[in-house]
Amino acid sequence: MASLKIGIQLKLFVYFLVIISMTMASGGFIIEEFLVHWRMENIQISLLRHLRFIELMAKEIPPSVLHEHYPQLAKRMGDVLDMRVTFIDEGGWVVGDSAVSSSQLSTVENHKSRPEVQQALSHEAGTSTRHSSTTSEDLYYMAYVARLGEDRVVIRLARPLHDLQNEISQLRMLILSSLLVAFVLAAFMSGMASRMATRSLRTMVQQTARITGGDQRSRLEISSQDEIGGLAASFNTVLNHLEQLMASVALERDRLKAVLEGIVDGVMALDAYGRIILANHAVIQVLSLKMTPVSRFLEEILPRDQVDGLVPPYSDKVYQGEIELKLKGGGSKRIQVTAVPTQSDRGLIILMRDVTERHRMQQVQRDFIASASHELRTPVSIVRLNAETLLDGALEEHEMAITLVEAIFRQSLRLSQLIGDLLDLSRLESGSHHLNLTMVSAFDVLGRVEEGLFNMMESKNICYINQIPDELMVFADPSAFEQILTNLVGNAIKYTPADGQVEVKVKRLAGDWVCFMIQDNGPGIPEEHHPLLFNRFYRVDPGRSREMGGTGLGLAIVKHLVEAMAGKVGLDAVEPHGCCFWFTLPLHSTLEKGAVSDDDGTHSHDS
Ligand code: ADP
Repeated sequence: MASLKIGIQLKLFVYFLVIISMTMASGGFIIEEFLVHWRMENIQISLLRHLRFIELMAKEIPPSVLHEHYPQLAKRMGDVLDMRVTFIDEGGWVVGDSAVSSSQLSTVENHKSRPEVQQALSHEAGTSTRHSSTTSEDLYYMAYVARLGEDRVVIRLARPLHDLQNEISQLRMLILSSLLVAFVLAAFMSGMASRMATRSLRTMVQQTARITGGDQRSRLEISSQDEIGGLAASFNTVLNHLEQLMASVALERDRLKAVLEGIVDGVMALDAYGRIILANHAVIQVLSLKMTPVSRFLEEILPRDQVDGLVPPYSDKVYQGEIELKLKGGGSKRIQVTAVPTQSDRGLIILMRDVTERHRMQQVQRDFIASASHELRTPVSIVRLNAETLLDGALEEHEMAITLVEAIFRQSLRLSQLIGDLLDLSRLESGSHHLNLTMVSAFDVLGRVEEGLFNMMESKNICYINQIPDELMVFADPSAFEQILTNLVGNAIKYTPADGQVEVKVKRLAGDWVCFMIQDNGPGIPEEHHPLLFNRFYRVDPGRSREMGGTGLGLAIVKHLVEAMAGKVGLDAVEPHGCCFWFTLPLHSTLEKGAVSDDDGTHSHDS
């Protein structure tokens, strides 16, 4: 900017100087020429007068003796006029010369070839300038033809030029010095003029620099009504339009950003080279990235084969598909991709939806329906077959009829237990089961559980130990708490052989949480089953469980109920055999979920 500013001023100044110098040089030259010409004309006029005067003087002398008088006449006239006077006859011979004595005249060479003499003989008068070898100086000659008596005689005057040359050089000096003064003045004036001419331009440049430097609200000052003023006004108009445009672009951008960020699906735009030029925050989550992928290439953030699944080969049609995204830390995600090509820049808009959970849920649902049908099929078939057998005549055989009806009764109990558990589970999973969280006495709840399981305990002669302090209060839903304990204590009694031991104890954990432990000395559960044990219909030994009237849903219900009350549930092995199921509940209402878990998500009983 600065160089431009100086440049224009300097350029104008230099242009001015060049124009002034050329004008002055040519002016000086013309003046000098004119003066020299004028001076020469004056000299010629005065020389011609002198020549006429000499002619008159010569005519005073009688023609018969004139020839002898030329030398004296030349000498006298030369003295009077202070010039060399020469008389030359028509043949070119010098007959009288003020600078040559009469005795020497015969030695003077013929002058017919002299230019002034030749001109005079043909045009009456002639001039010439040359260096005289006789007087060794520059001389101006003027010759004139006079008719003296019968003869035509050339009278010639020779005027030294040294005074004229002095005059010319003085004149030149004068012109040069006045030109110099004029030049200095003109240079100063042109400097001022160029400065003044660029002042508004400079101001404009400064103001523009301020605007482009960030002060976008500022406008150019319109200080004159000339072209620069017009330019400033136009610039201001452009700036106003630009500001409005920027404001609307910013508004559009904010709207687009808000819309993009409001979309739960990942949205990103790629340019024609595959560089990501726009991405919403959901992209980071969907692709499990650490930071925004904007201005990176897809290949930089995803493995090559995954990129191919995400970006279809170029086509102007909308592409839809699904990819299995392998995650760096292991595991994978199912991503539904919709790619829409943008015609104008051959780019691509990619919409990505994480459908992993939907897929999982669909799979879980399929598994659940398959498992539920499988579980229901056996008792329903037994009921149907037994009923058919009865109808086919077994009713007549009393003992057989009793056996068959007993089997129908057992299977209907099993069916009702199964349907009851399925309903509980579906209520829990659908979220329609509302918990009534309150402070509950653990001792009282366990008391009710013991009552319900008393017969079973007694029939197996189980040694039951209750270590729950009677003053212990927990923040829980009373019926959910009761169902959890019923399922876990019931399982412990069910799977522990006769004369075994079942113990219910409690442990206070850090952060006002309490851990209930139901421990038995039964066969225990091999370690490999632990991760799947709380899944629906998961059984360690399906045959044995069914035999015992188990549905395979008890632990799944326990897990749902405990987690609904913000607790955790788990299982530890017991040495030498047996297992210990545990779950946590808060001691009061203000605790946060998961506050008692260790890093790996299990509860440490030693903590
Ligand atoms: P079920 O109705 O079959 O008991 P659960 O969900 O309550 O279903 O239990 C799932 C499986 O876990 C059972 O089939 C059984 O194999 C195993 N199990 C549960 N509790 C115990 C326990 N205390 N000792 C040994 N195995 C157990």
